[in-house]
Amino acid sequence: MEHLNIDEIIQYVTATKVDRETLELMTKVNGHIRSCSVCKEKVNAYEMVNDEIKKDIDENCLDLNRIDDLIKIKKEIDNEC
Ligand SMILES: [Zn+2]
Repeated sequence: MEHLNIDEIIQYVTATKVDRETLELMTKVNGHIRSCSVCKEKVNAYEMVNDEIKKDIDENCLDLNRIDDLIKIKKEIDNEC
């Protein structure tokens, strides 16, 4: 079975609007992580990062560019492993 790619995971974790594309992605990701612990762990890790970022936004009024930077950093860390 093909694993989810990082872009799909990030899109899933950071989705703020529910359109057709997002729904399809959610269905795909949910279906996959039900039977794949590797991707499930990745999704959980990104959800944690995303929550931290959201908290930072609430507390420090960070702008959206900052989120992109943080996600980029996390992505680079992930690729190194
Ligand atoms: Zn997988």
